[in-house]
Amino acid sequence: MSTIFSKIIAREIPADIVYEDDLVLAFKDIAPQAPVHILIIPKQEIATANDVTEADELTLGRMMTVAAKIAKDNNIDESGYRLIINCNEDGGQEVFHLHMHIIGGRKLGAMLP
Ligand code: 5GP
Repeated sequence: MSTIFSKIIAREIPADIVYEDDLVLAFKDIAPQAPVHILIIPKQEIATANDVTEADELTLGRMMTVAAKIAKDNNIDESGYRLIINCNEDGGQEVFHLHMHIIGGRKLGAMLP
C-alpha cells in the first residue's frame, strides 16, 4: 500500500531531499523535533520493520551508511545523534513506509521521555 513517502520518491509532492542513490532517499522531516531531523527511507516499499527480509539486507545496510554520512554532513557526528525506527501502533509509527529518523543538533535527553 503506497504512502506519502512513495509520492516523495516519485517527486509527486515536494520534500527537502538531502541524499539519493539507487536504494534509498533521505529528506528533512516536515515537523522537525530537533535542529537536525532527517528521514532515510528505502525506495522499495517496505511497510514496517516486521516486513524486512534477507533480500532487504543491502538496503538496510545502506540506510546505516547514509545515516553516518548525513551525521557528518550536518556536523553532528561527534556531538551525537539518535537513530529511530518506529514500528506499528505501540512504536508510534504514523507512515507505513519503513523509515529511519536521524535526530540531533541538541541534547536529546532520556531515550523514552
Ligand atoms: P513515524 O511516526 O511514522 O516514525 O514518523 C513519520 C514522520 O514523517 C514524522 O516525523 C512526520 O513529521 C514525517 N512526515 C509525515 N508526512 C510527511 C511529509 O509529507 N513530508 C515530510 N518531509 N515528512 C513527513
